[in-house]
Amino acid sequence: MTERFIVTMACSVCKNRNYYFTQSKKQEGKLALKKFCKNCGKSTDHRETK
Ligand SMILES: [Zn+2]
Repeated sequence: MTERFIVTMACSVCKNRNYYFTQSKKQEGKLALKKFCKNCGKSTDHRETK
């Protein structure tokens, strides 16, 4: 079986956890994406969190 890693993306402004997905390979470094946060009502930086 392949080990899977769950990646959770949290808004850097309100800390709301808006997105999560799984990946089969562990990624190097922290992931940061510009995503729409419905809590903030705009696009904000989302960072990988645990
Ligand atoms: Zn937010």
